[in-house]
Amino acid sequence: MANLKVNMSMTKNEMPEQDPIVRAGNFDEVALGYDLETAVKEASRCLDCKNSPCRTGCPVRVKIPQFIAQVREGDLEKAYEIITSTNSLPAVCGRVCPQEKQCESHCVRGIKGEPVGIGRLERFVADTHMALENKPEPVAPESNGHRIAVIGSGPAGLTCAGDLRKLGYDVTIFEAFHKSGGVLVYGIPQFRLPKEIVAAEIENLQKMGVKIVNNAIIGKSMTIDELFDDGFEAVFIGSGAGLPQFLHVPGENLLGVYSANEFLTRVNLMKAYRDDYDTPIKHPKVVAVVGGGNVAMDAARVAKRLGAEHVYITYRRGKDELPARLEEVEHAESEGIEFMLLNNPHAIHGDEEGRVTGIELIKQELGEPDAKGRRSPVAVEGSNWILECDAVIIAIGTSPNPLIRSTTPNLNTTKKGGIDADDNGVTSRPGVFAGGDAVTGAATVILAMGAGKTGAKSIDEYIKSKK
Ligand SMILES: Cc1cc2nc3c(=O)[nH]c(=O)nc-3n(C[C@H](O)[C@H](O)[C@H](O)COP(=O)(O)OP(=O)(O)OC[C@H]3O[C@@H](n4cnc5c(N)ncnc54)[C@H](O)[C@@H]3O)c2cc1C
Ligand code: SF4
Repeated sequence: MANLKVNMSMTKNEMPEQDPIVRAGNFDEVALGYDLETAVKEASRCLDCKNSPCRTGCPVRVKIPQFIAQVREGDLEKAYEIITSTNSLPAVCGRVCPQEKQCESHCVRGIKGEPVGIGRLERFVADTHMALENKPEPVAPESNGHRIAVIGSGPAGLTCAGDLRKLGYDVTIFEAFHKSGGVLVYGIPQFRLPKEIVAAEIENLQKMGVKIVNNAIIGKSMTIDELFDDGFEAVFIGSGAGLPQFLHVPGENLLGVYSANEFLTRVNLMKAYRDDYDTPIKHPKVVAVVGGGNVAMDAARVAKRLGAEHVYITYRRGKDELPARLEEVEHAESEGIEFMLLNNPHAIHGDEEGRVTGIELIKQELGEPDAKGRRSPVAVEGSNWILECDAVIIAIGTSPNPLIRSTTPNLNTTKKGGIDADDNGVTSRPGVFAGGDAVTGAATVILAMGAGKTGAKSIDEYIKSKK
């Protein structure tokens, strides 16, 4: 790397994208990815810092300058090997990780100008590997004879399963849905994360010998105690936070009101957007999405692609307070999503047949900052107004489903309903470990993966300690 010249450009090489007007009418991927020339140019912006501050911002500690150096030198398979030594889902992370808050926020190039496009390079390396025709098949490690059960096939469960299999454990994932992948499959839309990518990562795990049992709801099909009776020696709970929160306002049971989870699941997992599937879904004309996070942006952009003429994001604070990634907000805006900021729902109105006709909103002003420094919304008295619409999608958060905690004796939970696990994923039940959204509540893919890794390490230590 020493011989190669550093590219001192202050800005990242742009990511080619589908035109906003065109893409708002299809479900194809928005970002198109770098080509080799652009990737090498971007990689040449890296200073190969001795102390790699970027790595400290990555929850799975990808060896960032090392993989970028290989991109610069054109050895993309070596770059892939370096990334996958710590990150088992690089094509996923390269697309959906909030890099601006993680690795890239620590990049020294970001002090004067834009940081290195670490996520874009990670995606490029992973995609190049996936497109190889004669790539080596993953090898199934020899079994060590110990059986481990993993509940949930989201990023936490998949990572935990992959790491344990690499150590020789016989791993079975139990997944409630008929398709594996968790939020990567049922929540994040196709145009941000094509499902073929998740399927390829899961197939690799299966080739390594990880077994997946779909349509198995732990707590209903069988309990955690029954898994132990069946011979599993440890259990990792990676069951996510799929229970939607509601507004608790009048009219929430009207036809045309969806939780974002239900709406996105019907579209993504059950392919409701495709003519060759008969999954029922409303194709609304005017949609109000309540919430300002990434899930709200996804729901709004999906509604637009289903053919809605107007899609409004209604959010009780202002633009600066929107919790969604800036990139997602910009994408939504450029696709024609309209923002009704400083508005809070008061009621949902319907007709005699029980169908949504509008959402009653109250205008808000920003008051004093709260404990976290965010200015709190204060209702402007008498400012109620009705936004006419024929669907309302509620995207104000989710929490862990109570099924596992209610069917597993002596499993402690937190006040927020998450499973109580320490930093090593250890719970109050010997042999039961947990991580990801099931513990923290709704968070991010990479944090869930980090928790899956930690869980695998703890399970390995637990099994060894029993010998
Ligand atoms: C719409 C949406 C968009 C998002 N966008 C991003 C993004 O861009 N970037 C990002 O970093 N994060 C994003 N997130 C958050 C991220 O997807 C989650 O933090 C992450 O998927 C959590 O991983 P997990 O493995 O803990 O849980 P999940 O991905 O939720 O997986 C849990 C799995 O467990 C299964 N399960 C639940 N209960 C049981 C049971 N009793 N028995 C068997 N199986 C069970 C579920 O069916 C599910 O498949 C988004 C979330 C949503 C909803
Ligand atoms: S901090 Fe930025 S410039 Fe330094 S090694 Fe990491 S990616 Fe390269």
